Amino acid sequence: MLHGVPALHFYTHGTAKEDKKRRPGVGRSAPHPTGHDAGGQEGQSGGMAMDTRAAVVLSRKDFDAALFDLDGVVTRTARVHAASWKQLFDAYLEARARRTGEPFSPFTPEDYLRYVDGRPRLEGIRCFLSSRGLTLPEGTEEDGPEAETVHGLGRRKNEAFLAALRREGVEVYAPAVELLERLRAAGLRTAVVTASRNGEEVVRAAGLEGLFDARVDGVVAAERGLPGKPRPDTFLEAARLLGVEPGRAVVLEDARAGVDAGRRGGFGCVVGVRRSGPEGSLLAAGADVEVTDLSTLKVEEGD
Ligand SMILES: [Mg+2]
Repeated sequence: MLHGVPALHFYTHGTAKEDKKRRPGVGRSAPHPTGHDAGGQEGQSGGMAMDTRAAVVLSRKDFDAALFDLDGVVTRTARVHAASWKQLFDAYLEARARRTGEPFSPFTPEDYLRYVDGRPRLEGIRCFLSSRGLTLPEGTEEDGPEAETVHGLGRRKNEAFLAALRREGVEVYAPAVELLERLRAAGLRTAVVTASRNGEEVVRAAGLEGLFDARVDGVVAAERGLPGKPRPDTFLEAARLLGVEPGRAVVLEDARAGVDAGRRGGFGCVVGVRRSGPEGSLLAAGADVEVTDLSTLKVEEGD
């Protein structure tokens, strides 16, 4: 049943999760569950953390679809973001220095970490400018990239990001791409679910268009009035677009908010993909399993 998988070592996290519904298809060394009709058992399911020898099995018998978060699960766009912030601020500060006669002091990696990283785009702009004693008018969403406003700089940043995507492409996690291919070969449908308003561009720059049957990104969510993660609505919309029941879909997420969204949506299995943070942090956020490497996930075609 478990093709070539070494001995499994699961440990459970006490009783805190024993009230969770049973998650079919999360593999273990016992005979594989055949579907929802095997439900009702407790104690072997939710909240398993795996050591490196363990395997999680995603079977076509149990799942019809897999819903992938994008950045942090499939792609790595952090470097592209950092480079486009530097391009934006260096150009702005240099032009300003020429105008005022003050010395030009470039945007540094430390500036990125302190003022920009992890903040919403416009907030990052305000925060960095204020660190240099600068303020700009807010402007409006209609401002073009030429406007010397917070919104204008935000527009410039996004254009720099998109240009870098087109120029340099996007790094991907190879095991994630391989997993997408294996799932599709086994007959599962796949969707990408991301808060990014650049989801379509990122997917295209990464050359992944052919690997997703549906996409729910920040643009789609805004058009349809869907609240973002940790609310489950964007994942539920992806399941709806694929025509599958949430209970027959797997969610793969690296962020705590995304894991929480998967849990709230009642999906068949939430796989926490831990790229940083302490071991168990995604289990604590509600993941059924936590892995650090997607190549450890096994895929079975079912009968
Ligand atoms: Mg992510």
